[in-house]
Amino acid sequence: MGLEEKLPNGIVLASVESLVNWTRKASLWPATFGLACCAIEMMTSGAPRYDLGRFGMEVFRPSPRQADLMIVAGRVTNKMAPVLRQIYDQMAEPRWVLAMGVCASSGGMFNNYAVVQGVDHVVPVDMYLPGCPPRPEMLIDAILKLHQKIQEEPLGPVRAELAAERRAQGEKLELLPSSVKYGKTKKSGEVQAEHVW
Ligand code: SF4
Repeated sequence: MGLEEKLPNGIVLASVESLVNWTRKASLWPATFGLACCAIEMMTSGAPRYDLGRFGMEVFRPSPRQADLMIVAGRVTNKMAPVLRQIYDQMAEPRWVLAMGVCASSGGMFNNYAVVQGVDHVVPVDMYLPGCPPRPEMLIDAILKLHQKIQEEPLGPVRAELAAERRAQGEKLELLPSSVKYGKTKKSGEVQAEHVW
């Protein structure tokens, strides 16, 4: 017999961690930031046919201080990289980055001196989305996977360390939470720039 059976109707039990993560994932606000052709697909995702408003994120914020998701839509040039990093640094914490398309993920077909060969050289990436360009359905799928990742995020450094230990012991975490992937080590405080998938 559990506590639930003694509670009157209308009472819901949940952990603080799931509630906080639920509110975070259900109120992601993307920064208004498009770099190339992929941005057209990103804009289409917000239009009525695909309607990102279903996930509470139809308003792309003009100020990075009001945004917690950066969708890197398009190739990043070396000239644009410091600007992108500055916008990322100005965004609210906790924040997430989605690399949209092959150009943002790896430089794509632009294997030359002018284009950054993957935006993960500039900012930590939480979700990679392949394709050239990825269709709005693919972007929405990547956003939903990011939601799942946020929902499973350990709350606080102690819980993140526990998750990192579980992973070190060989347990497979399907979508590694960002705080584990880019967490700080206990001793040195250095950022672990792991790329595990
Ligand atoms: S992935 Fe394709 S559509 Fe997207 S920015 Fe690169 S060339 Fe353009």
